[in-house]
Amino acid sequence: MRDSSRSVSFWQQAVDLLSDICGSTHVLTDTDILYTYGQDETLGLHFGFDILVKPGNAEEVSSIVKICNELRIPITPRGGGSGVTGGALPIKGGVVVSLERLNRIIHIDELSSYVIAESGVVTAALCERVEQQGLYFPVQPSSKAYSFIGGNVAENAGSIHSCRYGTTAQYVLNLEVVLPTGAIIWTGANVPKNATGLNLTQLFVGSEGVLGIITKVVYRLIRRPAHEVTLLAGFTTIEDACKAVLAIRQSGFTPAAVEMVGPEALRITAAYLSGPLPLVKQGIEAHLLVGLQEDTENALLHAMETVGGVLEKYAAEPILVGTTTLEKERLWKLRFSIGAALSSGGRTYRDIDISIPLSLLYPYLAKVEEITARYQLAVAYFGHALDGNLHTMVMLDQDLDTEAGANAAQAVNSIYAYAIANGGAISGEHGIGMLQKEFMKNQFSADHLALAKSIKHVLDPNDILNPGKIF
Ligand SMILES: Cc1cc2nc3c(=O)[nH]c(=O)nc-3n(C[C@H](O)[C@H](O)[C@H](O)COP(=O)(O)OP(=O)(O)OC[C@H]3O[C@@H](n4cnc5c(N)ncnc54)[C@H](O)[C@@H]3O)c2cc1C
Repeated sequence: MRDSSRSVSFWQQAVDLLSDICGSTHVLTDTDILYTYGQDETLGLHFGFDILVKPGNAEEVSSIVKICNELRIPITPRGGGSGVTGGALPIKGGVVVSLERLNRIIHIDELSSYVIAESGVVTAALCERVEQQGLYFPVQPSSKAYSFIGGNVAENAGSIHSCRYGTTAQYVLNLEVVLPTGAIIWTGANVPKNATGLNLTQLFVGSEGVLGIITKVVYRLIRRPAHEVTLLAGFTTIEDACKAVLAIRQSGFTPAAVEMVGPEALRITAAYLSGPLPLVKQGIEAHLLVGLQEDTENALLHAMETVGGVLEKYAAEPILVGTTTLEKERLWKLRFSIGAALSSGGRTYRDIDISIPLSLLYPYLAKVEEITARYQLAVAYFGHALDGNLHTMVMLDQDLDTEAGANAAQAVNSIYAYAIANGGAISGEHGIGMLQKEFMKNQFSADHLALAKSIKHVLDPNDILNPGKIF
């Protein structure tokens, strides 16, 4: 929302002060340009705001924050705008600070295995650069072509590889952060072992732009395993697919990816892609895609025997194996087209990103099916099965103001209630933003929330940084 409570001259003064910091070409008020920055990937939502600023370094970010603090102007930090919980939406108007010009990879230390980069570097660009030097950053969200590394840190993003390698949090060694007062701090040190003082680095990981603006990121890197294959298995029931996931966990071997595609996601995406697709046929209700990555050929063969054996026990058809890049792409094609398929043809959906204990994988999905059937809603679920983090998309073909819209809200509430009552978490990787914040009081006690709010207040007493998010 644009802030009309303040005069034209107030906003002109703000524009002039911000232009003195960044140069007038990087301070924008043209409504057509601002429009794109008023939305992200959340439910087609859009919010108007007053000024877009594109700083070129941490010092400029600091000066912007100082001015906004003085004038009490809300600031929304923005990375690639790929968020799906509305974190980058400027819901209180004011200033959007886009980090897109902070796009330099500053240093790669091969021996110590870390990279220092500015927060506006596109995820895929960072991954490609470190791989050119024989290193590997395994937490690559599917949005890597346009998400920024600062946004990934702010959301504690995950990836299909998180079941083996963890989430962004496990790779952040150190952060340069501009605090809401304008002070610039480093949170840690560029070392993998660090027991020095309070862990401020992890305070900022997943903080969704409410505690500070991240300007530089230091990521730990690993060596990429030399041998990889993909396995695709088809199942006649989702229960069998879930049994296979649990059996993989019990085998003691952890693949680099175990991704599930549920029945509705399979149907919608197959129709969207058309043409022949592997294991898309009558009677196949679910897919599991398993990625194996090992250092040696022998280890890979052992992994294929172990995991392949488990899959064969529950699968309806022989397991498909992809070894070449082309074969692997063919097997992954449907999984990586789900997002585009679900958004096609004017469809919208409410993205539920719940994480549940693995033992409840099937009970959770059975509950989701039961609840959505009760409200006559379609539900498409898919994603990170071995993490217990399935993206559960409640399809919203209806006008949200109608009775059907109210039913969808009821169904969504019931799904969250089940997960929270059974030890789950509201978000596995997409964060809280504005979309999921109403459920925070169900997850946490009043004391927990009061502590979190007091931390926010200490850092940001005037509540200027991404106000209205998370709490
Ligand atoms: C097709 C698609 C696939 C996706 N796949 C995945 C996936 O595999 N895994 C996953 O975890 N997520 C995924 N996402 C969600 C999204 O891409 C991630 O949340 C991503 O990390 C957001 O990064 P961004 O740069 O786009 O951040 P934005 O959307 O711009 O911002 C997200 C939040 O971070 C804050 N923020 C951004 N930059 C900074 C900064 N420098 N300092 C402080 N705060 C900041 C914003 O204020 C906002 O609250 C997907 C989204 C889409 C649309």
